Amino acid sequence: MLEIKAKKKFGQNFLKDESVLIKIIESMPKSKNHIVEIGPGLGDLTKKLVKYKDVTAYEVDRDLFAILRVDFSKEIESKRLDLVLTDVLKVWEDGDSLYESKYDLVANLPYYIATNIIFKAFEDDNCENIIVMVQKEVADKFVASCKDKEFSSLGVISTLLCKEREILIEVPPTSFNPPPKVDSSVILLRKDMNNSVSEEFKTFLKVVFTQPRKTLVKNLLARYEKKIVVEVIKELNIKDLARPHEVEASLYSQIFSKLTN
Ligand code: SAM
Repeated sequence: MLEIKAKKKFGQNFLKDESVLIKIIESMPKSKNHIVEIGPGLGDLTKKLVKYKDVTAYEVDRDLFAILRVDFSKEIESKRLDLVLTDVLKVWEDGDSLYESKYDLVANLPYYIATNIIFKAFEDDNCENIIVMVQKEVADKFVASCKDKEFSSLGVISTLLCKEREILIEVPPTSFNPPPKVDSSVILLRKDMNNSVSEEFKTFLKVVFTQPRKTLVKNLLARYEKKIVVEVIKELNIKDLARPHEVEASLYSQIFSKLTN
């Protein structure tokens, strides 16, 4: 294969650890869904995925796309693989889903847009399960629960939108070429297809977690009237001195609806 230099601007860290690739495949939910991969890169994960199911893969890098088209010519011809050259965020920005029916997203994500991609996958009604490699710090936030020090707006939103959230594999930098500067984790997020959160609620959470070490009340007072904040906190039996990470996700939904009604 052609020697290819990883491009930093596209977050290219190629996963070379066979045991991690196998674990990702073994951890995939036993669903009938199609598979969407974001950033097939040099195709190591794609090779395993196409053996298992039909795959649609989005790659932004023209050079990698050209290599993949040759390496996967058989799979493309037999329609096992649909390879698309585009910035995946553009597809969502245009209001489209990444696939026409139910799919599971499986990917070693480019870290510079990983959080953004997971949020878009949450909003995409056809996406049911998300199995992705991300920076460990981001993974910890997505699976965090109330009272964990990592519990932030990401944890609140994923608690409300998912019926299952877990870290599947912890992956050291040495599993990649070139090695990233940070540790990584593969997470599984199984969406609860009945739930959604509004943009207004996400903005409200930004207010809530503006100063995570201050009390929830103090953060809320920066935006809402004192009288109403005090009333709502009392009504919901929340301690005056509770910090934002000490309040359950479901309570945030209630606080939000009381403050905005
Ligand atoms: N899947 C490969 C692997 O596991 O070795 C590569 C993973 S690498 C961390 C991220 C991949 O996402 C790269 O191939 C990169 O070019 C691609 N990528 C980066 N930004 C993208 C975007 N906006 N849309 C689609 N692919 C993107």
